[in-house]
Amino acid sequence: ENTANKIAAGEVVERPAAVVKELVENSIDAGGKSIEIEMVEGGTKFIRVTDDGKGMGHEDAQLAVRRHATSKIRTADDLVSISSLGFRGEALPSIAAVSKFTLTTRLKDEPLATYVEINGGVVTEVREAGAGSGTTVTVADLFYNTPARRKFLKTPSAESSHVNDIVTKLAMSHPDIAFKLFNNQRLVLSTGGNGRLLDTIADIYGHKVAPQLLPVEYSGEGIHVSGYVAKPVLLKSSRQWQTLMVNGRVVNSRMMAKALDNAYFSLLPKNGYPLAVLQIYIPAENVDVNVHPQKKEVKFSDEQKIYRAIYKAVSSSLATPAS
Ligand code: ADP
Ligand code: MG
Repeated sequence: ENTANKIAAGEVVERPAAVVKELVENSIDAGGKSIEIEMVEGGTKFIRVTDDGKGMGHEDAQLAVRRHATSKIRTADDLVSISSLGFRGEALPSIAAVSKFTLTTRLKDEPLATYVEINGGVVTEVREAGAGSGTTVTVADLFYNTPARRKFLKTPSAESSHVNDIVTKLAMSHPDIAFKLFNNQRLVLSTGGNGRLLDTIADIYGHKVAPQLLPVEYSGEGIHVSGYVAKPVLLKSSRQWQTLMVNGRVVNSRMMAKALDNAYFSLLPKNGYPLAVLQIYIPAENVDVNVHPQKKEVKFSDEQKIYRAIYKAVSSSLATPAS
């Protein structure tokens, strides 16, 4: 089992940002409304994710770190209608196989938390502990026992910017959750979690950015597109300021990025990338967001339709005079 975990770790966790993504997605799935992420040296030394979600009981806490112990699939039908972010039951055991890992978790109505400690995949301690309700996971010395992987880690500042990017996107796709991200004890990102996307964008990119944004709002052919694009005065040098979401999940999609570009630059000279946050809602059966283990890639049953919807949404937002 431990070997399988180490192999799976290669798929799930290639770097600190991937660890943070898995842990934060679990916190979101658990209903956390306030999620704090701390890292030391870009997560290469230490990562801690704390949430105020529903927590786990004593048995479940021990199960959670076993391979394929997901609580998120009960029937084969669930496989096609997955709405939660995680579903494979691989993240925690994979991460625990390649780090010094602890899990502290408490249900609201229980007096005590459960503490589980795992070193390189070996459970070294399970006990009751005092803690607030919710869950805290710590991951120290990632890849300490897989030196070949550890060598692939970049500098702490490069790794920290990857983490920053992931947390930005998770925060953007969950304006109703308050996120805080610390690197070496310094607060580097914080969102208020009031549920408004515009406020979340301002929390992340600065309050001066908000007045430079145009709202996007479009419905047609069963597709709903909403969000914001920056006015042409605010072009950026890379796509880093673009967040694309499908049914609430951040995705990578060349086609979607292309539709945004083509609409945006249909009348303007192309000399940069607009800051953009676009949410697309389509019927779940028309999209497969699980083609990659990291769930970033997305497949649509009708790409043209999505392309058209984004194109129309962005063009009409640019054409509408700002009030
Ligand atoms: P998956 O998310 O694919 O189910 P994971 O390995 O990420 O698999 O997590 C295993 C299980 O542990 C989850 O299904 C969930 O029941 C539980 N779990 C993990 N993190 C948390 C958390 N922060 N709060 C509550 N339960 C959690
Ligand atoms: Mg998970």
